[in-house]
Amino acid sequence: MCSEGGERGRWTPQEVFREINSLLDRLAEEDLGSLPAESMGEDQIALERICNRVQAEALRRLRRFDSGQGYTSSGALTAKAWLRWKCNLTYTSASNQVEVARQMDALPQMSQAFGCGDISFRHASVIASTAADLGDRMEANAEDILVTAAKNLDPRRLKIACLHLRHYLEPDGVLRDAKEQHDRRYLYLSQTLDGLFYLNGRFDAEAGAVLRTALDSVMRPPAPNDERCGRQRQADAMVELARRQLDGGQLPEVGGQKPHLMVTVDMATLTKAPGSRAAELEWAQPIPAETARRLACDCTITPVLHRAESHQVEAGRSSRKIPAAMRRALIARDKHCRFPGCDIPAAWTDGHHIKHWPDGGATALWNLLLFCRLHHRFFHEGGWTLQQAEGGVVAIPP
Ligand SMILES: [Zn+2]
Ligand SMILES: [Zn+2]
Repeated sequence: MCSEGGERGRWTPQEVFREINSLLDRLAEEDLGSLPAESMGEDQIALERICNRVQAEALRRLRRFDSGQGYTSSGALTAKAWLRWKCNLTYTSASNQVEVARQMDALPQMSQAFGCGDISFRHASVIASTAADLGDRMEANAEDILVTAAKNLDPRRLKIACLHLRHYLEPDGVLRDAKEQHDRRYLYLSQTLDGLFYLNGRFDAEAGAVLRTALDSVMRPPAPNDERCGRQRQADAMVELARRQLDGGQLPEVGGQKPHLMVTVDMATLTKAPGSRAAELEWAQPIPAETARRLACDCTITPVLHRAESHQVEAGRSSRKIPAAMRRALIARDKHCRFPGCDIPAAWTDGHHIKHWPDGGATALWNLLLFCRLHHRFFHEGGWTLQQAEGGVVAIPP
C-alpha cells in the first residue's frame, strides 16, 4: 500500500469506482477562478501521481483479464482486440498496455514504483520493453538501476539510459537492432494529380542525424520578419539542399548534360499577355506565369526549335541570365539579400530584375537586386513591388 490507512475488503470494485468518480466530481465543481494560480502546480503533481496509480491498477487488472482470457465471452479473440473494441484504443496503445501488463509480474520493483505513482506508464513501457529485449540477460540489479533512473528522468532520457544499459549487457542485440533499423529505411517521393509532391521516409539514427545536420545548416535562425512556421522552414531547407547540389554543378550528368530544372514557356506568358497559356515544368506540370517569370529572372532562356513561340528556361548556375562578371559586381554591391532586415548571404540569392527583361528591362546592375529565395518570391508570386525612392528602392507590400 502506498497511502495511509483504509480498511480493505469491505468495498466491491464498483463501489470504489463510484467513490472515485464522486470525489472527482467534487474537484470538478471547484471554482478555480477563486484559487491562487500557483496552487495549481501542486495540484498538477498530485493528479499526475494519481493518474499513474490509476493506470497501474488498470494494468494489474488487465494482467488478470489477459492471462485468464476474460475477453472470450465477448467474442474478442485477444485482450488487445478487446481493448481496441471496448475502450476505443488505437492498435499501438492497446498493444503497449497488454505488453506492459504481461511484464508486471517479472518486474516487481517497476510494478511497485508504478503502483505508488512514482513513475508513469511511459516509463513502465520503456523499462518493460528493455526487459523484453534483454530476456535472461536482464541482471538482478538492472531493474533497480532502471527504476531509480525512471524516477528522475523523462521517458525519452530513460530510453537513452536503457540503450546504454542494453549495450553494456547485450551489445550484439543493440547491433542487431541497428542493422534491422537500417534495413527498414526508405524514401518515397510521390506526386498527386494536383501536382503536389509528398515526401515520406524512414532513416536509421546515423542517416537521420546526417540529414538533420545538413538541414539545420541551411535553415539558419529565422529573420525577425520571417513568418514561416518551423515545418515550412524545414521544407524550404530541404529544397535548398537539392538546389545547391544542382547549382553546384558537381552532380553526374544525365543524358549528356548537367541536371537542371527545365521550364517551357511562351513569350506571351512571360510578358503576362492576357489569354496566354501556363508555363510547363518538366514532365508537363503547368505552373503560373509569375513562377516562370521568377525562374527566368536569373536563368538563361533559349527558343524551343520545334515551336517558334516557345522558349526554355534552364535553372542552374551554369546557365545564369546574369553573366558571371556582372553577378560578381552585384554581390560586391549588395553583399546579401536586399530585403529590409534579411541578411541571407549572396551565395543563397537570385538576381531579380526590378523591371523584368520580358517587359523591356535591362540586365544591368542598376536594374538588378539580390534576393534570397523566400524574398524573391515576394516580388513575383507574392505581389510585392519595388519603387525607386530617395536613397534607393523601397519594397511595397501588395
Ligand atoms: Zn525576380
Ligand atoms: Zn531575404
